[in-house]
Amino acid sequence: MEHVSPELPPDRCPGLLRPHHAADGALVRLRAPGGRPPGRALGRLSAASQMFADGDVHLTSRGNLQVRGISVDEHGNVAAGLTDAIVAAGLLPSASHERVRNVVASPLSGLAGGVADIRPLIGALDTALCAEPALAELPGRFLFGLDDGRGDVAGLRCDLAAVAVDAGTMRIVIGEMNGPTVASSQVVDTLIGLALRFVRMRGTLWHVRQLPGHGTELGGLNPAPELPPYAMPYGVLENAVSALVPLGILTPGMASALPDDGVIITPWRGVVLPQGADISALSAAGFVVSDDSAWPRVTACTGSPGCSLARGDTRALARRTVASGTAADRLHIVGCERACGAPHSPHNLVFASRSTSHRSST
Ligand code: SF4
Repeated sequence: MEHVSPELPPDRCPGLLRPHHAADGALVRLRAPGGRPPGRALGRLSAASQMFADGDVHLTSRGNLQVRGISVDEHGNVAAGLTDAIVAAGLLPSASHERVRNVVASPLSGLAGGVADIRPLIGALDTALCAEPALAELPGRFLFGLDDGRGDVAGLRCDLAAVAVDAGTMRIVIGEMNGPTVASSQVVDTLIGLALRFVRMRGTLWHVRQLPGHGTELGGLNPAPELPPYAMPYGVLENAVSALVPLGILTPGMASALPDDGVIITPWRGVVLPQGADISALSAAGFVVSDDSAWPRVTACTGSPGCSLARGDTRALARRTVASGTAADRLHIVGCERACGAPHSPHNLVFASRSTSHRSST
């Protein structure tokens, strides 16, 4: 069963060292395992985007960061000044593993709720991942998850996840299957060992769930139950402030409203601030700090002008939809049938076109 395919399809997930060339310029994606960028990195990235790109920092559904609208030279290269600024911000700790450091982790762990504090596992997993040369061959789409028992990250279709059962043990989830329960001290070694086995057996597959046995090949024991959609809370919480970033677009004004250190990026395109914050100032800068807003129910793909396939401006339609107060259901607004970035939970697709829009349920 375990073999390496000689003909792996190209992995087009972008990184700093391999930009994606979009209709609005080049795009680089920067990994922040667990949504934890290094101290001061967000502010430095925002400054670099204002100098070399569209000016914003874009948050992804994996808690990563993107800069887009980057000017390129006649050879398609981004400015050396941008690369230097990103490296100086600590956002490229491993050139060989930059595109595989995809780790989502419960953003509120240790701050509000959950049955365990999984924060120490984030850095330990990232360090172990980068120390294993063979794991540079993981697909860029491969996703690790660390869930503190509240079921937020476990619902994100991770390839390999550890979900806290209590303060000292975690259940390993392998693709779509529940695996063994191990001591928390064994979680990192277990996940790394499973990832190495997947690299050897994956052939042309991107995800563990695509294996014929959906994960039984790696020790999956029984189907993991489907979890209800997680609703990220916003506002002042137990030991943190939580704020949503509409459409994941962190403008210069929003970036400057954040503290220098300790900002946690959530997989729901928001931020958690463990040191607290002035809610009024965040709201004035453009953050959403209340569960009453329609923004948690409305997302959009890139659309035009950033995507050459788009038939309309998805983000403008999203803003109009929220402003109109008509977003009662979960909506994902797209510019074509590819439906990039559609949530895993039930939703209605809204197709933006140059003059109109229409819906379909998924
Ligand atoms: S759904 Fe279509 S228009 Fe939107 S980003 Fe994907 S390819 Fe582009």
